[in-house]
Parts: sequence; C-alpha cells; structure tokens
Amino acid sequence: MSFDYDLFVIGGGSGGVRAARIAASQYGARVGLAEESRMGGTCVIRGCVPKKLMIFAASAPGMAEEMRGYGWQGAATGLFDWEVFRQKLDAELVRLETIYASGLEKAGVTIHKCRARLADHHTVELADGARVTARHILIAVGGRPAKPGIPGEDLGLISDDLFLMEQLPRRALLVGGGFIACEFATILNGLGVGTVQAYRGDAVLRGFDREARDLATLQLSTCGVDLRLGVSPTRLERQGDRVLAHFDDGASEEFDAVFFATGRKPYTGDLGLENTGVRLGKGGAIEVDEWSQTAVPSIFAVGDVTDRVNLTPVAIREGHSFADTIFGAKPRKVRHDPVASAVYMRPHELGSIGLTEEQAAERGPVDVYSAQFRPMQSMFAGSDAKVLMKLLVDPSDDRVLGCHIFGPSAGEMIQLAAIPITMGCTKADFDATMAVHPTIAEELVTMRSRSRRIGENGGNDG
Ligand code: NDP
Repeated sequence: MSFDYDLFVIGGGSGGVRAARIAASQYGARVGLAEESRMGGTCVIRGCVPKKLMIFAASAPGMAEEMRGYGWQGAATGLFDWEVFRQKLDAELVRLETIYASGLEKAGVTIHKCRARLADHHTVELADGARVTARHILIAVGGRPAKPGIPGEDLGLISDDLFLMEQLPRRALLVGGGFIACEFATILNGLGVGTVQAYRGDAVLRGFDREARDLATLQLSTCGVDLRLGVSPTRLERQGDRVLAHFDDGASEEFDAVFFATGRKPYTGDLGLENTGVRLGKGGAIEVDEWSQTAVPSIFAVGDVTDRVNLTPVAIREGHSFADTIFGAKPRKVRHDPVASAVYMRPHELGSIGLTEEQAAERGPVDVYSAQFRPMQSMFAGSDAKVLMKLLVDPSDDRVLGCHIFGPSAGEMIQLAAIPITMGCTKADFDATMAVHPTIAEELVTMRSRSRRIGENGGNDG
C-alpha cells in the first residue's frame, strides 16, 4: 500500500515538532504535521517561555528591596507597564513561532494549519476537508488545563489566559498548590497583584521533598502571597464585573479574577481515537510502551498526552527517540528516571532530581545530608530566607539517590547536579569535588556528616 506520507504528526508542540523535523531532515521521511493553534505548543506559546519571562519581570521588586539592604536609596523599580511588557512578549512569541515553523519547512515538512482527527490506523481527517494517509502516525497533542468541577467554574480563568489579559487584575485568587499555582502566585504577587492562593493541602508542591515543600510554602507567605492552606473554593458567582468565591471553610470573597491551576489533562477528546484500537489509560492518557508505541502498531504518541513525565525536555527526547527508532534504524528508548525539574518561584526556586526523602525511606535505609542556611547575598540585606541543599544517599553503595535544592537559581544548579546523578555517581564523588568559593552550591560538596539516617521502618537513627 502506498501512503501520502511516511509520517503524519498531530500536534506542533515540543514533541511533535522535534519528531517531524528529525524524521524529515535527518532520515528523509515524507512528513506532514497538523497544528490547530500556534506552532510551538504549550511550552512556547502559553507555558514555559512566557511564564519564565514573566518571572523575570516579577523579580524586580524583590531585587530592589534587597538592594536597599546594600545601601541603595529610594524606590528602585518604578511602575510596571503591563502593556509594554505584553507587546514585547507577543513579539517574542511570534519570533519563536516563526522559528519553529520555518525549521519544519526547511526540513521539508508539510504543515497543515488545522485540526486533525484519526479516521483509521493509517488515515487522518483534516478540518480543511482533506484526508491523508500515512505509514506512521504520531499523536503529540499535549494536555489542557483541568478545572475542578465546581459550580460557576466557567467564571474562572486558566493559565493560558494570564498571557492574554488586557490588564492585570487588582486582586486575584489562584486555586491549587502545584507547579503552575506556585509560579503564577510568584508572578502575580511580583507584578503587584493582590494574590490569594487557596490550596487544599497543608504544604504546596505535593510530590516534592517535604523539607523543600515547607520552605516553598513559607516563602510564598513571606513574599506577600496570601496563602491559605486547607481551603478550596466550592462555588463561583458573578458579582458585577468581579467574581465572588465561596470557600469550604464558609468564607466568601470577591476577586477581579480567579485562576484555576488545578492540574492538566491529556487532550484526547474528539481525536477520533474511537476509530482506532488505541487504548486510553488513567485520566484519559494514551497508553504507550517504552517505544512510545500505542496498542496500534502504526500509531505512536509522545509528550503530555501519554502522561508519563509531563515536561518539555521529556517530550522532545521522546519525539527524537521515536524518529531515530522508526526512521533512522537507531532504536532508542527514553529513560524517564531520574528526570530533574524546577519550580520557578522567587526569590528561591526549587530544583529537584531523583527520590525525595519520603520516597527513599520507603525504599530502604537512606542517609540524609541536609543543610539549611541563610545565603550571603540576602542575609547581608537583612533577609531571613533560607536555602536548602540536600542529598539522599544509599548507605549500601554510597550512590546519590536524590538531590533537592531550594535557593536562588536552583533550576540552573539542579541541571548541573543532574549530570553526575544521572551517571550514577556516589557521595564520595561529591566529596572529592573541590568547592567553588564563595557560592551557595559549594554546600553540595562540603556536607561531610549526615543529618540523619532514615531506616526501613521510616525511623530516624541519625
Ligand atoms: P499539578 O498537578 O502540579 O498541581 C495541581 C494542583 O491542583 C495540586 O496542588 C492539586 O492538589 C490541586 N488540585 C487538583 N485538583 C483539585 C481540586 N479538584 N480542587 C482543588 N485543588 C485541586 O498541576 P499544574 O496544573 O500546576 O501543572 C501541570 C503540569 O505541568 C505539572 O505537573 C508539570 O508537569 C507541568 N509544569 C511544569 C512546570 C515546570 O517544569 N517548571 C511549570 C508548570 C507546569 P493536590 O496536590 O492536593 O492534589
């Protein structure tokens, strides 16, 4: 049977674009790609990129405050002009979108600017009316924000909306305590928006190391976010041009905007999957094997739609490996563990790789090396903010099982620590490394005595 394409990719985000480009440019495959929205996907258009630029913008008041502790006088930041920032942000996103599209075109990929649905195991129906066939189909449609399912939730916004707002709200409610909620709380608060963050748990960032979570929780409150723990909204109501939120503790309060950052779901609706034998797993994620292959041999899936590790670099690696395996005769699986990640809060970020102390304790005995201290730069300015440097070590073979950093530029630090840890390094390797002085990161190679040993029963005999 002859096909229109060797590969048809549904979704022009990080994973889909990488797979399409590598298959076409390196292996000469005939590739088509459909994207219903802007090229670049969540990360580039409404995620990592605009978010990080906003985090930079939101850093100014904290930096100015710190500099006052060094003798600088007066209000150093002036006024933030959202309109100026937004125009610059729009221009930057257009620039990146153009780079993504032209990279694909140069590679010889045919771009279809419309929605695509699966018609069968080798056929895709395009919203522009065309039907195309492909030997292989790659689903890389990502995820979408999920609201919690409370009455009136349509009055609430999602993370995508922040980047498009005509003006910033004066007072906003953020619901959730995960990556997006903590980063958005940092942004809104830093840009001068009165920010209430309502989280149902007792410390933000569930799933991360508890010691780091406690510092992140403390930081949100001390930097000006009105963080309310153990609280969730139960209902939203319109109140003129504001929104009235009712909470499960009986309180009600008005806000100019309510943002839900209550998780994301695989974007599998109306994809025509019922026309195929592709199987869905928990939460609607596409089930794939270690080669990103679905239950249908001709159909593969990468990125957030498979709900493995929902991070851009993972989707890129999955897309690249898929192209190498299928079109380059270079079979390559993706290692999903360990994967480093960072939560971009201010002033301190949280960088993390490997097991948390809680996970390590469940696995067996673990030596914990943990140091909390006030870093030179902010301490001089009079801040009590603490940094955390933490290593978890397997006492049986000295291997480093996890590393958690809460501090300025922790995202940059964890990227570097991730290299030896991914290589399987030992604590002795850290100890043998000469310190760079004076830095915060030198603590990683100077922690000589363990803080505690957590035993098999979760006990503490350190
Ligand atoms: P997360 O899963 O990280 O957090 C969701 C939050 O919403 C949790 O605090 C959760 O509470 C809470 N929640 C879920 N359902 C409800 C509900 N019904 N009522 C009240 N609260 C609820 O999702 P995010 O949306 O923050 O981020 C999605 C994913 O995007 C992340 O997992 C990450 O993979 C990726 N991401 C990565 C970033 C980075 O690398 N820097 C930045 C942003 C996103 P609980 O903890 O109690 O379940």
